Amino acid sequence: MNRLSNKVCVITGAAGDIGREAARLFVSEGAHVVLVDRDPSTLAKLLTELGSTHAVSVVADVSNEQEVSDFMSLAVKHFGGLDVVLANAGIAGPAGKTLEQCSVEEFDQVMTVNVRSVWLAIKHSAPLLRARGGGSIVVTSSIAGLVGAGKAGPYVTSKHALMGLAKTAAVELARDKIRVNTVNPGPVESRMMREIEHGFTPEDESKAKKGILSTIPYGRYVRTDEVAKMMLFLASDDSSFCTGSAYLVDGGLVAI
Ligand code: NAD
Repeated sequence: MNRLSNKVCVITGAAGDIGREAARLFVSEGAHVVLVDRDPSTLAKLLTELGSTHAVSVVADVSNEQEVSDFMSLAVKHFGGLDVVLANAGIAGPAGKTLEQCSVEEFDQVMTVNVRSVWLAIKHSAPLLRARGGGSIVVTSSIAGLVGAGKAGPYVTSKHALMGLAKTAAVELARDKIRVNTVNPGPVESRMMREIEHGFTPEDESKAKKGILSTIPYGRYVRTDEVAKMMLFLASDDSSFCTGSAYLVDGGLVAI
């Protein structure tokens, strides 16, 4: 299992359900990882699990330009270079509220954490990836980046914005052999979905889940390991000619 051997990867949102799974898989495939999150305690547990030979962790805010620049540089200082960025940190925002009900603060927070962060990740990783002769940037969007949904307006808007951002970066960076793609998972069996289900039907979260499940041809949520495997494909040289595209892991949800 050496699909990422000698590759140095920055993973943001590493303490989250998807980020942890990706970090485990990437390390098992030989990667050295810089784990980034704002949650220090989960990050510390993950670092203990993965071991300090293959991993280093940074508590940072992915929407802060200086902090992004610092953790990208750390990859070079600690492991000698940067090959892969998994820009994965994100928040659900106000689930269950219509666009009319959202405040400016709620809207701006989602756009700042979900969109500005990815632009900053691209901006500050591109020179380092270029210096290595190329690399891969994998952006976690969502099926919410491809189709609309009511009562999740800021999230849907932010995940659509990532599609434009990734495509632009793919075009601008192709000459440097830097590939940029999005992973678009459907609803994942995860903490974030519990938060969203609660936002939709606070009186009984299972009601929202039942409704969502009825829209998925496979009849279940995506597992985090299924998302991580797609991230591995895009991070590795197996996807050497793939750039500027969206990779769905959604059990057929968008096919209907
Ligand atoms: P999660 O909440 O478990 O993980 C997100 C992580 O991002 C958390 O550890 C959080 O601390 C971190 N984070 C949030 N804001 C941050 C900030 N400003 N700076 C640094 N870290 C920050 O959620 P997840 O399910 O693992 O989601 C990961 C990504 O996948 C997100 O971009 C999410 O939108 C996307 N996604 C999730 C689902 C799902 O159903 N869970 C579906 C499609 C896409």
